[in-house]
Amino acid sequence: MQFQPVLDEIVATLRPELGQAGHVANYIPALARVPAGQFGIALRTCDGDEAHAGDSTTPFSIQSISKLFTLTLGMRELGETLWERIGREPSGNPFNSLVQLEAEHGIPRNPFINAGAIAVADRLVSLFDAKAEILSLLSSLCGDPVDFDEEVAASEAATGFRNAALANFMKSFGRIDNDVGTVLDMYFHHCAIRMSCLQLARAAGFLCRDGVHPYTGAQILSERQARRVNALMLTCGTYDAAGEFAFRIGLPCKSGVGGGIVAVVPDHLTLCVWSPALEPSGSSLLGIKALELFTAKTGLSIF
Ligand code: GLN
Repeated sequence: MQFQPVLDEIVATLRPELGQAGHVANYIPALARVPAGQFGIALRTCDGDEAHAGDSTTPFSIQSISKLFTLTLGMRELGETLWERIGREPSGNPFNSLVQLEAEHGIPRNPFINAGAIAVADRLVSLFDAKAEILSLLSSLCGDPVDFDEEVAASEAATGFRNAALANFMKSFGRIDNDVGTVLDMYFHHCAIRMSCLQLARAAGFLCRDGVHPYTGAQILSERQARRVNALMLTCGTYDAAGEFAFRIGLPCKSGVGGGIVAVVPDHLTLCVWSPALEPSGSSLLGIKALELFTAKTGLSIF
């Protein structure tokens, strides 16, 4: 299939809507300043063919998309023991919600809500220099040096009262081993990584290749683990909109409040869309439309 014309058509279709609807995340001051009228889309097939259009090489704050890669590190390093303190059920609640944590004794529903990702960050901090490891994994996967946006990380640290509450609450249940400040520093930094659509489409490549590194052929996750990450993306990757995403798009997706969404077509390709204005559950409004157009035009779906 020729993907470049499909992506060009999607950009042309959505261009009139740029900056018209949705809101840039404003609870993180450094993200509130990002101009809304941007849109990029990029994909990479299992065979290494690439197509991209619009602002596909503009770096943006990957935010919760980073949770895909911290989960990957956690699964790779800890195997089944990662699941001792983290569930695998959709939360049906906003990504920063506190309500389930008390009833469920400090065990977050899944690794993609904020509490779950903070719990993963804690496990990683126990193992190694987690900030260096996540940068090294992402740089290797996309083939470019990847870095933190220190301004965004500082902005999140200065205003992340809910995340601090989640971390402290889990600590009170004995579910966080390390110093809360150290764990949050890792969490805020991995959310503040900057990458482009093209880099993310490349970096997620192992998820459509049964866990195999897109360039080196190294096994990043086992085939079974890679399938499980895709399953978690489908059921939990877009928070309380996961059902709507499955219904409208039909692909495992992971979104972030920077406006990026990574999607996987297992055994075919990975793609990334980005547009900063969000719909209420925290995913990119035009990104969702773009993925809908993509699956409608190509007929690709897991169903
Ligand atoms: N860093 C953001 C936060 O903690 C990530 C949220 C997201 O992208 N959904 O609130």
